[in-house]
Amino acid sequence: MSLQNPVFIPGPTNIPEAVRRACDMPTIDHRSSLFADILKPALDGVRRVMKSADAHVFAFPASGTGGWEAALSNTLSPGDTVLAARNGMFSHRWIEMCVKLGLKVEVIETFWGDGLSAEAYGAALEADTGHRIKAVLATHNETATGVASDIAAIGAAIRAAGHPALFFVDGVSSIASIDFRFDDWGIDIAVTGSQKGFMLPAGLAILAVSDRAMAAADSARLPRGFFDLRDMGTSNVRNGYPYTPSVGLLNGLKFTTQMLLDEGLDNVFARHARIAGGVRAAIAGWGMTPCANRPEWYSQTVTAIRTPTGFDATKIVTHAAETYGVAFGVGLGEVAGKVFRIGHLGMLTDVLALAGIATAEMAMADLGLPVKLGSGVAAAQDFYRATPAQAQKAAA
Ligand SMILES: *Cc1c(COP(=O)(O)O)cnc(C)c1O
Repeated sequence: MSLQNPVFIPGPTNIPEAVRRACDMPTIDHRSSLFADILKPALDGVRRVMKSADAHVFAFPASGTGGWEAALSNTLSPGDTVLAARNGMFSHRWIEMCVKLGLKVEVIETFWGDGLSAEAYGAALEADTGHRIKAVLATHNETATGVASDIAAIGAAIRAAGHPALFFVDGVSSIASIDFRFDDWGIDIAVTGSQKGFMLPAGLAILAVSDRAMAAADSARLPRGFFDLRDMGTSNVRNGYPYTPSVGLLNGLKFTTQMLLDEGLDNVFARHARIAGGVRAAIAGWGMTPCANRPEWYSQTVTAIRTPTGFDATKIVTHAAETYGVAFGVGLGEVAGKVFRIGHLGMLTDVLALAGIATAEMAMADLGLPVKLGSGVAAAQDFYRATPAQAQKAAA
């Protein structure tokens, strides 16, 4: 692997030089006023990126998975039922965590490649007249299959059913890259990590939490220690932490949220859509198809590409790493060996995307797949030339 090349994995993402500098700090006393000047703008920045007026925002020293655990353990009790759909490896792992924590899960099984069905959520909630279901879980962007789902529609289905369940959304590979509306969509807890759309090193589990979910923490009986939202909230109000914070990462978060807001969230989203469009044009140029079964489910942050039946897609990833020093994502779980993934979130530009497309092309040609050199690159070039690029100054 080369340290010069960008990575094309859907997290951790490439770190802009200015963000790396923001994370590189001398030790400061986190009980001094210097820390307040880092923590408060970082948490405020996250709230604005998630489009919430007054959600409680938390940043635990952990990864996104820790955020899943914080959401569940603070709000639920042993034996509680949650409703969750599974359409890929990440939604699967969140369900597995529920089981480990002693929750019952009503699973809406969904084809790996399809989006989540708001109708299925609505029907399950309508049927639950006794209100056994205490929380509804949805993964906004299933990183394993490159499928984005309509979270607004699921939020609307919960309200239409008149159901009191809390609404938890995994936004790990969507937040800060595609539109995310905590307040408008009626979300109670949103979870992400520092190393995806926020373009930071891994190390922060980032959550936004509604008043209703905070209130649930008082009666919930699942054990929680490190991830207790109330301890973190009480300390944060005084600009402190219940333990030692990752000061450099929080300073990076202050910097990166400001950078995204300066670029303009709509420009950030347009840039992601544009880069993703070029990647999908390239795939069509290769005569291949995305794992996502319908255009409305195409993810603007990661594309999983189906390879011909009988060919082990993982070979592309191994070969590209060994031969060209470039990282792509492997297929996971049910789609292992059937897809490889191009991550296109974070600081990428068209030019970087073209380099990734060209490398994937070389790897596939080397391995004997019927891919004509230049076919994907030319299709992406045509797409980028035809698509306005108002946001090229992005993520400098
Ligand atoms: C990356 C990812 C996670 C896991 O996050 P970690 O930071 O690796 O713990 C969870 N959900 C989704 C959708 C992801 O893409």
